[in-house]
Amino acid sequence: MKIGRIRGIELRLHFSWLFIFVLLAAALALDYFPSSYPNWPSEIYWLAGILTSLLIFACVLAHELAHSFASVRQSIPVSGITLFLFGGMAKISREPRSPSGEFKIAIAGPLCSFGIAALFALLSRLSLCIPLKAMFRYLCWMNLLLAAFNLLPGFPLDGGRILRSLVWWRTGNYLKATYVAHLGGRIVAFVLMGGGAILMFATRSLDGLWLVLIGWLLHALAVGSYRQIRLREALAGLSASRILNPNPPSISPWATAERALEDLGLAPPPCALVVDEGRVKGVLVLERIRKMPSHLRSLTLVGRIMVPLEKVGRASPEAPLLSLLEEMEESGVPVTLITNPEGEVVGIVTKEEILRAARFRADLFMR
Ligand SMILES: [Zn+2]
Repeated sequence: MKIGRIRGIELRLHFSWLFIFVLLAAALALDYFPSSYPNWPSEIYWLAGILTSLLIFACVLAHELAHSFASVRQSIPVSGITLFLFGGMAKISREPRSPSGEFKIAIAGPLCSFGIAALFALLSRLSLCIPLKAMFRYLCWMNLLLAAFNLLPGFPLDGGRILRSLVWWRTGNYLKATYVAHLGGRIVAFVLMGGGAILMFATRSLDGLWLVLIGWLLHALAVGSYRQIRLREALAGLSASRILNPNPPSISPWATAERALEDLGLAPPPCALVVDEGRVKGVLVLERIRKMPSHLRSLTLVGRIMVPLEKVGRASPEAPLLSLLEEMEESGVPVTLITNPEGEVVGIVTKEEILRAARFRADLFMR
């Protein structure tokens, strides 16, 4: 959901944010303010709850804008900011090219939140109206919490990015630094989940559930973003021609699955071309036979289980491996036909081989 635009940066709201907004406003109006400050009229509780929720939203936005402005200063464009369940995410178009650039972008968010916290502390001291004082106090704490949480040394949190920039600066190895920061992310995630679980058992309540959920989410993010970065780095500059198999095995569409297994041997390639009367009809993905119940293998023709030609992606030998991989993951077909300008098939590239090449290269870069 688009809500506006600041200096060319598009602001979006994830639908889950609306849910959290209502939950937070209600928790503040029904629980936090009444129990800390009894004897206000109920309209004031609700007004304070809603206003505080809106201001928290503005604070999260300011935090993300601080990252974005720091990134724009390094001439790395930011396409947009999405605010969702646990905060925000600035869509920064590429990773910074230097450790100092990464450090500045990462630290900008927490610094901004600390600044806002100080501002609210001051406002709370100055204001004479008790509900306003209470709101500012709460907002001050929330911004401190936001800054402190983001400074935890686990990638992809800000603290993890700071950790990465430091390791990167010390070792000069971007991939190794990302690896270390992602380990930090996993450790922080396990500590959060463990802490949450202990809290749930100790207090016999669901309070710790938040920590478990956040830890779980952080773990998934750490693993996912590390994998993404590793692939991107390892496959950078590689084209299909580097790993294409010019002589893939071929099989007739009229052979049974059992026959195909026999013909392709005990160390079969992941895919074979299905060829009938000299023409390519499709691709057989061996994984499909492996997953088939064994009694059906003698009854099923290769032509029935192959991926038909029109569903298999095509690319030129110059196509980057990373984009081939992304297309395969999107289509679910783990193979691409490599064709020459005349449209003839000159070889195939399989997902398995791309991933093997990526693992091999990433391993080389880590040394
Ligand atoms: Zn941040």
